Amino acid sequence: MMRIYFLAFIAFMALLPILPTPAFWITLANYIGLYSIVALGLVLLTGVGGLTSFGQAAFVGIGAYSTAYLTSQLGISPWVGLLAGIAITAAAAFFIGAITMRLSGHFLPLGTIAWGLSLYYVFGNLEFLGKYDGLTGIPPVTIFSFTLDLGREMYALIWLTVILSLLAIKNLLNSRPGRAIRALKGGGVMAEAMGVNTTWMKIVIFVFAALLACLSGWLYAHLQRAVNPTPFGLNAGIEYLFMAVVGGAGYVWGAILGATLLTLLKDQLQQILPALLGANGNFEIIVFGIMLVVLLQRAREGIWPFIRQWFPSKPDAVAPASAPALPMRAKHAPGATVLQINRARKEFGGLVAVNDMQFDVKAGEIMGLIGPNGAGKSTMFNLVTGVLPLTKGEIRFLVNGELTRIDGLPSRRIVRHGIARTFQHVRLMPTMTVLENVAIGAHLRGTHGDVAGIFTSIVRANKTEEQSLLFEAKKQLERVGLGNMLYEEAGSLALGQQRILEIARALCCDPTLLLLDEPAAGLRYKEKQALADLLRKLKGEGMTILLVEHDMDFVMNLTDRLVVMEFGTKIASGLPADVQQDPAVLEAYLGGVE
Ligand code: ADP
Ligand code: MG
Repeated sequence: MMRIYFLAFIAFMALLPILPTPAFWITLANYIGLYSIVALGLVLLTGVGGLTSFGQAAFVGIGAYSTAYLTSQLGISPWVGLLAGIAITAAAAFFIGAITMRLSGHFLPLGTIAWGLSLYYVFGNLEFLGKYDGLTGIPPVTIFSFTLDLGREMYALIWLTVILSLLAIKNLLNSRPGRAIRALKGGGVMAEAMGVNTTWMKIVIFVFAALLACLSGWLYAHLQRAVNPTPFGLNAGIEYLFMAVVGGAGYVWGAILGATLLTLLKDQLQQILPALLGANGNFEIIVFGIMLVVLLQRAREGIWPFIRQWFPSKPDAVAPASAPALPMRAKHAPGATVLQINRARKEFGGLVAVNDMQFDVKAGEIMGLIGPNGAGKSTMFNLVTGVLPLTKGEIRFLVNGELTRIDGLPSRRIVRHGIARTFQHVRLMPTMTVLENVAIGAHLRGTHGDVAGIFTSIVRANKTEEQSLLFEAKKQLERVGLGNMLYEEAGSLALGQQRILEIARALCCDPTLLLLDEPAAGLRYKEKQALADLLRKLKGEGMTILLVEHDMDFVMNLTDRLVVMEFGTKIASGLPADVQQDPAVLEAYLGGVE
């Protein structure tokens, strides 16, 4: 996408040091590059992953100090300094990430502030790191026999790093692990239901962003040839975050735009403001603060989206016309009990939402779970899929011919057994395309582990698998009748279509049991008919379906058996025609109208 513009950008950046550009501009460009690398990490972490960090400057510090100490004090090569910085950063980020990523809400930003502050004082108080004076005498980087001791030479290395980092993140985001990372912002329930280990993914992107910061620190140390704690304090951490947000934290180009704008602005303000105010001080931070408030009110997405709309854009992920099919799970033998609910109970405080429910589902049938609003149907689904823990009882699923307990397992393990679901309140990523949303469902059908998957995606060694996953997503979308909307933004679909999208996403999990929570809600009559046809077709292919619905008419002609719930309790079960005549059911549905 936009390849021409990208090449033009590279050409421009490559020409800059060759042309007689004033040294001052090269210096500015070097700093913009260094900041961009850190801000790119924040695009992944904050803009895409939804995790706010004020502590990136501390990781820049680790990268800078590692190499500064090893090269200036011990005479070791800068390249070893780089490796040491990477190792220390990875270990530190993994440790901090493992603690903080489990916490939700404001704990992470607070944690990163604490971390940013403490590391600053560590740098400033350690004797062997030169305390607040820092370290000097850092040698330049040498590549073979070539010494990068001029700003113009470091420029090449810095901007090469920027462009490679940008490509790495772009490639990553447009891939299976990238879609899992983009799904994190949805709150985790959906991603976990598709098999994503969200805690682990968060730790991984935290380490990734920290490593980019470390890289920037290494480059900085060898550009500046001296380090002291000041550029690695909390102030700098806030500025990095600010750059990403101003530029547009959701976009790789936003990082570079933000770093450029703020660096140029800061440079101007540092000249203008003291003259204007007649005193010295870091007044630019006040202007930045005002800008941030305005931006948060007027353009939460940052500036890049305004620029982007001037460029023609194509979707990043395009489904191929054909691709090798993904392996599929064997269906259960028809008639076998696949799901067994045994005295399942869920209490919310004093409310018994699911009251000792008891039923089973047989392979190849469409079973309906019906009942008035608030009866506990969705809660029942959440118990089966591991979104909520049971208060009491057991849930078993047929795994390798044996009814195995699945209660107590997290969602992401349950979906591995072949139980996929949709949500009553749709959970999709509104700014991702329909195709990409559905491809999230195919997460478990990729073969690489999370970390290996990230590396293969970055170097695009995942192309064949990626094509198969996207082709599968397209196939499922065509199957449910959304084949003509592959590249629309999912958020622009009508609610009924979003529900159908969720069915396609669930089908991508290659389930043997499909749980659908009110799939017909919001559909027009014709669409309901089409949905019923689709479910019958799936049944014909051997799929087992458990369907929650409160529209009686829809389930009557479609389901093989019904279970009726009211106030958390099973009040009837059996063939639809019989259940329909049941006095308790009539009472529940008509509320004693007669
Ligand atoms: P249904 O899907 O049949 O309409 P639900 O399962 O959504 O019903 O809700 C059953 C009952 O449990 C309702 O009274 C609802 O308010 C309550 N409930 C559902 N989820 C929660 C929750 N997370 N915390 C507290 N109460 C809940
Ligand atoms: Mg419900």
